Amino acid sequence: MSISGVSVAAEPAKLVHKGNANILIRFNDFTRLERCCVRFQSLNRNNIYTLENYQYLEREVTPLLGDYLVRTRKVARNVQLLDLLLEEFRVSRDCSEVFVLEMENLTFGMDSVLSVDHFTKIHKCSSSTAVVWEFKPKWWCETGHICRNCTLNNVKGRRIPYCYNMILAEPGLLRLWLAEYRLPSQFFTDMELYLRSSGNVLAKLYEIQAKLTHSVPKLGDLNGEVDVSETLALLMAMRDVSCFIKWDHENPIRAKIVDVDLKPKSKWAQWMSQQSVLDESNMKVSH
Ligand SMILES: [Zn+2]
Repeated sequence: MSISGVSVAAEPAKLVHKGNANILIRFNDFTRLERCCVRFQSLNRNNIYTLENYQYLEREVTPLLGDYLVRTRKVARNVQLLDLLLEEFRVSRDCSEVFVLEMENLTFGMDSVLSVDHFTKIHKCSSSTAVVWEFKPKWWCETGHICRNCTLNNVKGRRIPYCYNMILAEPGLLRLWLAEYRLPSQFFTDMELYLRSSGNVLAKLYEIQAKLTHSVPKLGDLNGEVDVSETLALLMAMRDVSCFIKWDHENPIRAKIVDVDLKPKSKWAQWMSQQSVLDESNMKVSH
């Protein structure tokens, strides 16, 4: 049901996935998921954020990502259906409705998931060859410059030998990276071809980041919220999205982008201090 009315669902929401600021829930329909913000302690504040984020997706993000952006719909749920989850995530129930963003379940039909590393998962299906490759590409880096992804992995002690800048530059590496996950050889052949094609989802995302990067201040130079321009907030959102690429023997590759969130300007201090740590690190990586 649309935002004009509170939807009626027969049973309480079930938790599907927990992120930093959002949870993914579902009701009886396995083909749909709903994204619920738990960023703030007040439900009312989370609702306001969700509605602002929806406007943001429509106004700023859709023109950039086009069909790659998964389509979302605003839905109002009765707070009672989310009672237990809101309690679990320490959100006070100061409203009678919960606004969520409803969208397609991009891993519907998959029945197992393998965690490759902090940024990558492989979803498989026992009854078909279908594969859903889920990943967070994170930050684009200019050839020859310091790779933020690999440097941060080093600083955090994550042993991840590949990053998505490397994959886009040399798609053949994917076969090495995912060698142990028993994927069909055709998956790699098709994916390499796809990643070499212009306008593929990874290239598109990195192209957008590259354009935005040239018109924002350095994160290490930020002094307050006033320094966080709309462009910088958009760039930070683009650096934190998730991609889902579905492959099977019969159909064309299908790619979608999710987890695009309006970044609060208050995050500037976190961005600045993280950048300072990286700038001072002696474990920098460049490609
Ligand atoms: Zn890298």
